[in-house]
Parts: sequence; structure tokens; C-alpha cells
Amino acid sequence: MDIKSNIKAINETLTAGCKLIAVSKTQPIEKILQAYQTGQRVFGENKAQEMLAKYEALPKDIEWHMIGHLQSNKVKYIAPFVSLIHSVDSVRLLEEINKQGQKINRIIPCLLQMYIANEDTKFGFSQEEVIELLDNYPLSFHNVRVVGLMGMASFTNNQQQIRAEFRSLKVFFEKIRGKTLPPQVEMKELSIGMSGDYRIGMDEGSTLVRIGTSIFGERNYNI
Ligand SMILES: *Cc1c(COP(=O)(O)O)cnc(C)c1O
Repeated sequence: MDIKSNIKAINETLTAGCKLIAVSKTQPIEKILQAYQTGQRVFGENKAQEMLAKYEALPKDIEWHMIGHLQSNKVKYIAPFVSLIHSVDSVRLLEEINKQGQKINRIIPCLLQMYIANEDTKFGFSQEEVIELLDNYPLSFHNVRVVGLMGMASFTNNQQQIRAEFRSLKVFFEKIRGKTLPPQVEMKELSIGMSGDYRIGMDEGSTLVRIGTSIFGERNYNI
């Protein structure tokens, strides 16, 4: 199938209130343009410099989402234009995003990435750490806005396990939604689901699905 039919097929399966992030990491400009021509306007990247280069080369009505682990010293590359950073995995990183936002007078929307997988390779906050952050939220964080949570399930074919991991995140999301949150924090987005598990993610309440392979095909990391 081609990119256009892939996007169309995925859009037909999206539940109301769920938005498609086309994950274009490693994909060349021509392929992203093919997706753009179908009307897709939201793209996800996992490397700051690659995202910056694509931002510069492509139409300016694209919303760029950072979905990969972000090093503090790379925030400056994307701060001026990034629409949402899904992968905030430490208070230190949030602080750096705030600092870069302050320099350019922007409020940068972020999700807190939570550790839900049964693996030790994934980045993210634990539930205790998120509660701790929300209870002691720095008053100085005027240039970041936390708008929800992101999580990645374990790399497994076990659908029940994936569902259980997504569900635990959704339960936690609802729990903190019920709390009195700091003024710079809103809990409205839940970013769960990739090519292999986005339907489970949507069942469990996803508002943002991050899909690469099912749109663009397998990635080639050698180019
Ligand atoms: C690459 C990536 C995706 C997309 O994965 P696919 O399996 O190709 O859909 C989603 N989320 C994150 C964080 C990624 O790094």
C-alpha cells in the first residue's frame, strides 16, 4: 500500500477525540510531503536536529511533535517551533525546556513520559515521581505547560500485557485529573499507541497515537 492509502485506512479507524501523529523519523522529505498532500499536518520525530532540518525544509503549517528521548542540550534547536514534546522524562529536562521557552517568550506544551513497561530500557517517570512533581510544582515554570501523559508499552506480542500497561496509565491519568492541579498543568492528552498497539491504546483512552511503520513502511536506519 502507498502512504496515502495507509493514512486513509488509519484515519478510518481513529476513535473520536484521537489524533494521528505521523512518525516520520528517518523518513526523507519526499515521503513526508506525500503524507502532507493527503492532508496530514502532524508529524513526530525523535531527534532534535533532524526535526529542525525537516521543519526548515517543509511547509510551515506542519505541527512538529518530539516523541523521542531529548537531551537537555538539544532543547534549543526545537524550542522555537515544536508543538508538543511527548517525551519529558525528568524534572531537569522540564526545567531546561522552561528556560529555553523563556528566552524566546513561548510557552511550550509538554507531556510527562511515564515508565509503564516491564523493561528497564525505557525512559520515564514513575507514578510517585509525577505525584511528587505535581505536589511541589515549581512556581517559576511559566514557559512550559504540562498537558498530559505519554507511555510506551513493553515490546511484546502479549496483547493482554500491553492492555494492562496502557490501562494502568489511564487509571493514573484519571486519578491525577481528579486532583487540584497547579495552574500550569492540565491533564487532557494521553499519548499511548504505536503501529502495533494503537487500537489497544484507543480502547484504553488514547488521545494521541504515534504511528510510523504502518504509514511509511519499515524504517531504514542506514540512510
Ligand atoms: C518510532 C516511535 C513510534 C512509532 O513506531 P511505529 O512502530 O513505527 O509506529 C512511536 N513512538 C515513539 C516514542 C517512537 O520512538
